[in-house]
Amino acid sequence: MSKFIFVTGGVVSSLGKGIAAGALGLILKECGLTVRNQKLDPYLNVDPGTMSPSQHGEVFVTDDGTEADLDLGHYERFTGVPANKYSNFTAGSIYFDVLSKERRGDYLGRTVQIVPHITDYLKQCILSLESDDVDVVISEIGGTVGDIEGLFFLETLRQIAFEKGRENVMFLHVTLIPHLNSSDEIKTKPTQHSVQKLREVGISPDVLVCRTVRHLDDQVKSKISLFCNVPVEAVIEEKDVERSIYEVPFVFLEQNLDKFITNRLNLKYKKPKLVEWKKLIKSLDHVNKHVKIGIIGKYIDLNDSYKSIIESLQHAALANKSSVEIDIVPSEDMENETKRKVLKEYDGILVPGGFGDRGVEGKLESVRFAREKKIPFLGICLGMQCATIEFARNVCKLSDANSTEFNPKTEHPVISLLEEQKKVVNLGGTMRLGAYPCSIQKGSKASEAYNSLNISERHRHRYEFNDEFHELFVKKGMVFSGYSPDKNLIEIIELKDHPWFIGCQFHPEFKSRPIAPHPLFKSFIKASIKNSSNVSSKKKFVNKVKNKKSKK
Ligand code: GLN
Repeated sequence: MSKFIFVTGGVVSSLGKGIAAGALGLILKECGLTVRNQKLDPYLNVDPGTMSPSQHGEVFVTDDGTEADLDLGHYERFTGVPANKYSNFTAGSIYFDVLSKERRGDYLGRTVQIVPHITDYLKQCILSLESDDVDVVISEIGGTVGDIEGLFFLETLRQIAFEKGRENVMFLHVTLIPHLNSSDEIKTKPTQHSVQKLREVGISPDVLVCRTVRHLDDQVKSKISLFCNVPVEAVIEEKDVERSIYEVPFVFLEQNLDKFITNRLNLKYKKPKLVEWKKLIKSLDHVNKHVKIGIIGKYIDLNDSYKSIIESLQHAALANKSSVEIDIVPSEDMENETKRKVLKEYDGILVPGGFGDRGVEGKLESVRFAREKKIPFLGICLGMQCATIEFARNVCKLSDANSTEFNPKTEHPVISLLEEQKKVVNLGGTMRLGAYPCSIQKGSKASEAYNSLNISERHRHRYEFNDEFHELFVKKGMVFSGYSPDKNLIEIIELKDHPWFIGCQFHPEFKSRPIAPHPLFKSFIKASIKNSSNVSSKKKFVNKVKNKKSKK
């Protein structure tokens, strides 16, 4: 029977609950346990697939094609366990299913209510991960304790704890201990209040993970312990880590969180070794290069819009013994010749995925710059489609070439809708989604990067390269180096006369792990380092992400 750890958050959002839940997953896995992470989101969207990344951060895609919350990315990166459709539920998806049942008449005329119908359904969703092979399910609840929309989630957790017994369920609450500059004091009251909020709904936390900018001394820890009714060894300090979020598991281990949890849930215990992870942290001290990458994107209000791409670049840089500085550059600005000059600053240019025509012309200009100036270029999904359009316009001289997504009437639709997509009416969950195999052409740059001819990558798109243009493109110097095994779909393009120019229809960023960086990113960063003037100039590790959005 599986044990359950429920992760809640208090005081403010953005405390890094996802990172804490992922780090916990890793620790328990290293204790020899089988772990599954899950995210429960209280908003009413059925899934994040149709939500704007500018508001909610990137949409993460799993192997089975679930469009999910970005926290699943943290879980996969920490634990290496592939997430699936049972890893993320939203209030919207639960209401949707319950109301569909009501419409079908499944409730036989009974009154349908939040308690018990919605709570029972949510319980099934949480328990869907329970199995003989899974030792621990870690379910993280989005939002903050006290949110009206999160109430039925907490009620469900309380019921599960009651039914399964407290020896099988524990609650870990992530909270904030603010520091007041004026009085130079650490304040525990907000944490006391958020624990009180939990108690109001019948939940007593077993562990408090305290996010703080200052060290919490024994006195503060004892105070939190006494007032929040949590043993002092379960008051865990999580001070802001300076260099990498992958230091968080070690912060937990130093405070014996592994022992406390396994003991509390009566689980077997093996001392976690984290060999690869220790090497990773050590490698932060041994960088001897520095590289600067520009991501030319349109979702610039939130750096989390490009979370997995940023992570992948950082993993790849470290694997190349390099620091990386990443600028998120508004693609619309690149339509302006003066603003475009910023592109000269980058050792490598990356055009990410996206939807809709805003900023596309700026992306095309950025591709052109990278192609003509021989700057290493990685185009992902829409980025690959832009590389195709730019090539059609400026190399093949098809001046109105476009994707039918942006100009349905173009005479040269080099990117067009997949046949099966033409009938689609609803936008949610209907793209080409999830993992598909891809064959790679021998001798190509892609084969060199992957060191394999058969790969599997995750997709999320409706449009594709239009094969009518295949021959012309090849004649003009494009290499189609990756394709679906039935050869119907183009998955990777590259350029012959360029040091490193690759576009892929899939999203490699979803499969990069800190201890197993993605080969395409690794190769892209390697090429960018080669192109860089900064080689070995900076020995200190810097991992900066700057948003170039102009301040109004
Ligand atoms: N909008 C493009 C499509 O639907 C690209 C999607 C993406 O970049 N994820 O095909």
